[in-house]
Amino acid sequence: MKPSRFIYHAPTQIEEVLDLLWEYGDEAKILAGGQSLMPMLNFRLLAPAHLIDINRVKALNQYSLSDSGLTISALARHRDLELSPEVELAYPILHEGLTNIAHVQIRNRGTICGSLAHADSAAELPSIMMALDGQMNVRSKSSRRIVPAGEFFRFHLTSDLDSTELLESVFIPSMKRNSVGAFDEVTRRKGDFALVGAAVVGTWSERGTIEDCRIVCSGVAPTPLRLLEAEELVSGTDLSEEVLVAVQQLVMESLEPTEDVHTSAQYRKKVTGVVVRRGLARLAEQRSVVNV
Ligand SMILES: Cc1cc2nc3c(=O)[nH]c(=O)nc-3n(C[C@H](O)[C@H](O)[C@H](O)COP(=O)(O)OP(=O)(O)OC[C@H]3O[C@@H](n4cnc5c(N)ncnc54)[C@H](O)[C@@H]3O)c2cc1C
Repeated sequence: MKPSRFIYHAPTQIEEVLDLLWEYGDEAKILAGGQSLMPMLNFRLLAPAHLIDINRVKALNQYSLSDSGLTISALARHRDLELSPEVELAYPILHEGLTNIAHVQIRNRGTICGSLAHADSAAELPSIMMALDGQMNVRSKSSRRIVPAGEFFRFHLTSDLDSTELLESVFIPSMKRNSVGAFDEVTRRKGDFALVGAAVVGTWSERGTIEDCRIVCSGVAPTPLRLLEAEELVSGTDLSEEVLVAVQQLVMESLEPTEDVHTSAQYRKKVTGVVVRRGLARLAEQRSVVNV
């Protein structure tokens, strides 16, 4: 199928994008990498009257790494970040997550901000942004605001953005000294959306215990889901085999995942326990790397 008719706008300045969003709001959609939007238009799941293509806005096509963290603007592509050795070194979990998104051809076009604005609950980046305590820099013609990743995802395919707002960039704070992370997922085929994914981060203390642990799952709820009870169980421990067994058990008993055409709730429950355990086991392996 072909998309419904729309009026195509190709602004070159951020201010023009914001003016267009202000004028057309609910009737408009931003086009970034198009890797989710174009299929939705072609299937006529969406029929916006105006398409605002931001690909010519040079100021949005950048990312920068500093001592305080990583800022990723709206047009930085998955592949740009994936191929950066500096980003891989500073945020190995982000690199790992990016390599799990779809296929190279899609990552060549798809943007980090597009993935986050799209807010697919099975996607990798929303969970990783929550695990890394990222922030969304949201801008409209009349305001700017910062939304913590934990408050950004409202429902499946629904974010906190209103129709006049652009996700201008995202910010990921630097990982603390001795912080480690891992991303693990189960998919039917390589490159598919995750049936279940888990982003896990924590900091090894001088005493050899894991602290400030965050465990965020994809694909189990209408938004990325933080497993607070599991975080509590593992924090302050040395992530021994007994702890890993206990956390797997807790997740399998307490989680109430969604069921859909891809798989049953029962299967997701079981597999979530496994991916969380595997993620935490990877944090345990990295203890020797941070020399604690
Ligand atoms: C075959 C296939 C497999 C895929 N597999 C995966 C996968 O395994 N994991 C995964 O995470 N994704 C997967 N995707 C989706 C892909 O990662 C998309 O690139 C991503 O979801 C959206 O990024 P985009 O830049 O292409 O956004 P677009 O498709 O251009 O836009 C997506 C939505 O976000 C809005 N939007 C985009 N940018 C902004 C912005 N800056 N501010 C406000 N709104 C904005 C658009 O209006 C639209 O509603 C897959 C896609 C395909 C086609």
